[in-house]
Amino acid sequence: RAKTEGRGTFRVYQDAMDAKARERTLIELELRDAVENGEILPYFQPLICLRDGRIEGYEILARWIHPSFGLVAPDRFIAVAEEAGLIGDISLSLLEQACEQARDWPKGTYLSLNISPVQLRDSQLSTKICDILDRIGFSATCLEIEITENALVHDVDVARRTLISLKARGMTLALDDFGTGYSSLQHLRSLPFDKLKIDQSFVMSMSESAESRKLVKAIIAMSHSLGLKTTAEGIETHAHALRLTQMGCETGQGYLFGKPSPQARQAWVAEAIGAA
Ligand code: C2E
Ligand code: MG
Ligand code: MG
Ligand code: MG
Repeated sequence: RAKTEGRGTFRVYQDAMDAKARERTLIELELRDAVENGEILPYFQPLICLRDGRIEGYEILARWIHPSFGLVAPDRFIAVAEEAGLIGDISLSLLEQACEQARDWPKGTYLSLNISPVQLRDSQLSTKICDILDRIGFSATCLEIEITENALVHDVDVARRTLISLKARGMTLALDDFGTGYSSLQHLRSLPFDKLKIDQSFVMSMSESAESRKLVKAIIAMSHSLGLKTTAEGIETHAHALRLTQMGCETGQGYLFGKPSPQARQAWVAEAIGAA
């Protein structure tokens, strides 16, 4: 009996695996033409100056609008794109579209682009990015590059070279999802970051957990003593925004201020953070 049950369980597991593998194959196949077909679009999520409530920039977040699947979230296709060697083209296409849209934004508004580990292995990355910026007339000093910590675990030396060349062109470097990866402190010591993005898991648990509050406070203090700025991700409540502002966090991002949207919203949102 145990044997049949075991086999049944295996069958269910196998079917689930097959379904996953099928979805992957399908996504990869469809993804190959997606950029050319104009299906991968930049969505924009506002980055708020916590001192005055002004929108200081926007993070570019990839969305795939497939003619029959509909809207596909990045966690369903970014990893596939990385493995299929498509992430570089996707990323540059997003940057180009975003810069086009940013043409008539207020001066100084910056864009923040997520970069995959695979792209850090490309020694031509900074040249490719600058070609786009030059063509559109968008200043490199208004481009921030976000790298997740996990991306840095392999090939730190290769990553360092690419990061240095991006910075030399005037871009700002942000360490994304800080606190969730490996040997984060070592990365801070050896790589030329300008900014830390505190992972949303710390921010979201601030109301229930005194430990989270202490950690967030300590992270902000640490980054300031290292000469880095901080952005807090995942701000959904006024209470969190207020607390982070009091802790000296410079920039806020989260549903409280705005969800990612296809059109950047140029407005003042001081009222959204109340007294801050
Ligand atoms: P991320 O770079 O850490 O981006 C922040 C994610 O948190 C976004 O999810 C955003 O929609 C979500 N978020 C922002 N504020 C809140 C909030 O208040 N509450 C909640 N619950 N979530 C919030 P999204 O757009 O689904 O992107 C997920 C991840 O996919 C990104 O995490 C990033 O790692 C990756 N990604 C997105 N676009 C790109 C891209 O163009 N290239 C690469 N390499 N990765 C990308
Ligand atoms: Mg990011
Ligand atoms: Mg993040
Ligand atoms: Mg994240």
